[in-house]
Amino acid sequence: MKIAVIGFGAAAVGFLKEIDTSKHEITVFEMNADIYSSSISGIRADGKLFVSSEMGGDLEEILYNKTLQKEIVDYYCKLAETEPEIGSRENLEELQKKFFINGFKLVESEFFHIGTDKLKIFLKNAHEEFSKKGIEFKFNSFVKDIEVNEKILIKYIDRKSREEKKEEFDKVYIAVGRSGFKLIDTLTEKYPDIILSNTKVDLGVRFELPDIVVKELNEALYEFKVKFKSSNGQLVRTFCNNPSGYVVTEKYSDFITVNGHAIHDQKSTNTNFAILVTHSFTKPFNDPNGYGSYIAKLSNILAGGDKIILQTYGDFKKGKRTKKLWKVFPTLNNDEYVLGDLNLVFPSKTSTSLIEFIDNLDKIIPGIADEENLLYGVEVKFYGKKLNNDLFENLKFIGDCSGHTRSIVHATAHGILEARKIAEN
Ligand SMILES: Cc1cc2nc3c(=O)[nH]c(=O)nc-3n(C[C@H](O)[C@H](O)[C@H](O)COP(=O)(O)OP(=O)(O)OC[C@H]3O[C@@H](n4cnc5c(N)ncnc54)[C@H](O)[C@@H]3O)c2cc1C
Repeated sequence: MKIAVIGFGAAAVGFLKEIDTSKHEITVFEMNADIYSSSISGIRADGKLFVSSEMGGDLEEILYNKTLQKEIVDYYCKLAETEPEIGSRENLEELQKKFFINGFKLVESEFFHIGTDKLKIFLKNAHEEFSKKGIEFKFNSFVKDIEVNEKILIKYIDRKSREEKKEEFDKVYIAVGRSGFKLIDTLTEKYPDIILSNTKVDLGVRFELPDIVVKELNEALYEFKVKFKSSNGQLVRTFCNNPSGYVVTEKYSDFITVNGHAIHDQKSTNTNFAILVTHSFTKPFNDPNGYGSYIAKLSNILAGGDKIILQTYGDFKKGKRTKKLWKVFPTLNNDEYVLGDLNLVFPSKTSTSLIEFIDNLDKIIPGIADEENLLYGVEVKFYGKKLNNDLFENLKFIGDCSGHTRSIVHATAHGILEARKIAEN
């Protein structure tokens, strides 16, 4: 069969690793110029892998298959030529109890951190392995539309020559992740029956504080993931903890958000993690991603353009613009933020949920609610529409763009399982 994979991210890695190239001819279309080029993706920044039956996606065949998850972790570490950073998991039960009695649920998971620097080695080795298998890579190829007939027609722009090109395949796997939302929007407009549901977006801040405050937790867990229900019923959670890490910006096509990462061989003295509030919508509203984008754009406008807002926790609580920092210093470059007031950005119920979360967490980790700790806004996590993979026999969505995965391990596993289905049939 002549098969195309759109996007070279985690889901594509799983698919390409597993597919039998003696039986199928595979072409990968990737919009970026090469394997390393910056793209909004965790296989190019940070690389925190986890084995858990409580997070990462909603496909049961992946959630409850820890053996597969572990195999994927080993594969990434082997190709990254590194030993991952891990938590000691000491006093785990005691920690679980402390969180529980203070209104939090500690998500059960094992974490393995590779680091942005080592991901480059992974990408080089994976690309070499796949090329040796005879897989063809078309970089600089932005897929803008797809026609589903007996065969599948891919329409793409060659970004080098700026020419529009077409190519036909027997089967196409779309693996464009979150950054490929334009292609997904085009397809869901054309084939609306693909959408199963579209109801949520997570909005919040990147929180930064000195390592010394969270040292014990970082050593025990590396990443701590907790969930909390605020008094107005919103679900609040931590995401992507980076011990001795760095805050960075994330550039979308028309707005900028904040994120964080850690580097294996270069450490800061601060820890950062996201605090995200889930915003759920019901009919008639059906554009949670639009809502999240508008809030992000509003924060950029208030920051004077393509910057994000930085505020101390004390000022956020008081509803005052931050004018000076003196105890905690940001790891984000100072030309990428403006000191401001995030209360002008978030709806009041979101601010309430963030404050309740931080104040309650302080009961477990004293120092979390220190007035000088830093809030960067906004951080947004788009869930993506949940898509129906049963509608077309010859067009499948794998990884985050399917709406069913939200992590490197789950997206990779999704690619592996879809490649195995081809072998079984
Ligand atoms: C900054 C950041 C850090 C993260 N860190 C972690 C982490 O530490 N651990 C973790 O588990 N998860 C992390 N994640 C989430 C993780 O990256 C994703 O869940 C995972 O990569 C999804 O895999 P995917 O293959 O679906 O998409 P991606 O890995 O995003 O790959 C999609 C690929 O498709 C390409 N593409 C998009 N549109 C087109 C198009 N129209 N034509 C051609 N190519 C296209 C993109 O350039 C990209 O290379 C992070 C996400 C971000 C943004």
